[in-house]
Amino acid sequence: MALCMKGILTSVSVIGRQIRTLNSTSSLKTKIWYSTAAKPAPQTSESPGPGPVAKKSYKFVIVGGGTGGLAAASFLSRKFGQGHVAVVEPAEHHFYQAMWTMVGGGIKTKEQSMRTMASVMPKKVDWKKDRAITFDPENNLITTESGTNLEYEYLVVAMGLQLNFHALKGLTEALAEDPMVCCNYSYDTVDKTYKALQNFKCGNAIFTFPNTPVKCAGAPQKVMYLTEDYFRKNGKRDQAEVMYITPQAVIFGPPKYAASLRKICEERDIKVHYKHTLVEIRHEKREADFQIEDGEILTFPYEMIHVPPPMGPPDVLKASPLVDETGFLTVNKTTCQHIKYPNIFGLGDCTDIPTSKTAAAVAAQTGTLKKTISSVMHGHKPQATVSELFLIYLLPIDMKIFSPFIYMHRKVRNDDALH
Ligand SMILES: Cc1cc2nc3c(=O)[nH]c(=O)nc-3n(C[C@H](O)[C@H](O)[C@H](O)COP(=O)(O)OP(=O)(O)OC[C@H]3O[C@@H](n4cnc5c(N)ncnc54)[C@H](O)[C@@H]3O)c2cc1C
Repeated sequence: MALCMKGILTSVSVIGRQIRTLNSTSSLKTKIWYSTAAKPAPQTSESPGPGPVAKKSYKFVIVGGGTGGLAAASFLSRKFGQGHVAVVEPAEHHFYQAMWTMVGGGIKTKEQSMRTMASVMPKKVDWKKDRAITFDPENNLITTESGTNLEYEYLVVAMGLQLNFHALKGLTEALAEDPMVCCNYSYDTVDKTYKALQNFKCGNAIFTFPNTPVKCAGAPQKVMYLTEDYFRKNGKRDQAEVMYITPQAVIFGPPKYAASLRKICEERDIKVHYKHTLVEIRHEKREADFQIEDGEILTFPYEMIHVPPPMGPPDVLKASPLVDETGFLTVNKTTCQHIKYPNIFGLGDCTDIPTSKTAAAVAAQTGTLKKTISSVMHGHKPQATVSELFLIYLLPIDMKIFSPFIYMHRKVRNDDALH
């Protein structure tokens, strides 16, 4: 490959369906409690004031109106009807985040990934445009930023992952000031990626992976394959050294798929660096520092760099009694029921369910959640249904095919369950 002379590669070491069995509101009895660890809140009531905003007590409160929260809101509001389900969600807009990979690749516009929250919120739901700030599970209560107390009989927590841009030195400034630093993980930055591909001239095109839990662990690679393809089709491939730099020891979790991906990287001349953790971006010099195992820092110059930010559980959740030391919502991985509070359930990226953190996993968990809630409301012990869902990505090998994923479900027996 005839490469340009500028800044290539050199690493310089410098430093659904309705829940058929669910009880209706009127038939709810105290016997629904599978465990007595939590008391049911009073039945739905109105407090003084106009309209649904004044309502403070619900059968179901859902925290988070993203993929998981809206899925739960949809089936619960269909079953229980108007006024019994509240969704606490501060955002004015809902985003189809999976589309951001395609926005970064120039296939979609970012506006196509966005809907107003009002348009996707199920009609029978009371949307509280507010942020949950405290959880009081002993009293079946959450408090919101505006000072409202919301009481619930059942709580579904689906708050997603928090993006911690500030936790990586130089990232916030680099994203604000350097057009060649991009990130598909946020609506605010996703449109930088395709512009960076278009403006790329010559040098290292670096794609990194964070040293934290990550949503859609395939996305940091998908953007790379799309970029590589773009370079080929636009006569830039010979001027680019494409690199995937990851803190992990493998390119992808399941060995079968890792082998295929390694082969693709070989065929496409993509250099993979393992056990390299990105620790700083110095955009004034267009350099990125990576720490390797022995603590040494390796500096890579870049012409463009794609950086998924460090991620973690939301601060509000971390500060609540609903988590363990990891900060993730502790739920039974086979039932989505909280391990301590039986009237609390979790969905999606904010839980400690050991699946990939993806919308596809949320889809599988939603089916589980329906069954679990039904069991709990009937006073039965929830049965393990789906466990250990592995999500495997079919990466865009051909580029015409962009099949995002397939699932492999492994049913486990109850005695396999973690909790
Ligand atoms: C670039 C990218 C590519 C992806 N590609 C894929 C893919 O190909 N396939 C796939 O299956 N998945 C993909 N995903 C992952 C998928 O989008 C997420 O896993 C999924 O959205 C998780 O759903 P969730 O409900 O847990 O969280 P989210 O959908 O993120 O929703 C969380 C919601 O909680 C709200 N919230 C946060 N804090 C509070 C609070 N204190 N009070 C009230 N509400 C709060 C937020 O505003 C947000 O609306 C991708 C994600 C990204 C970023």
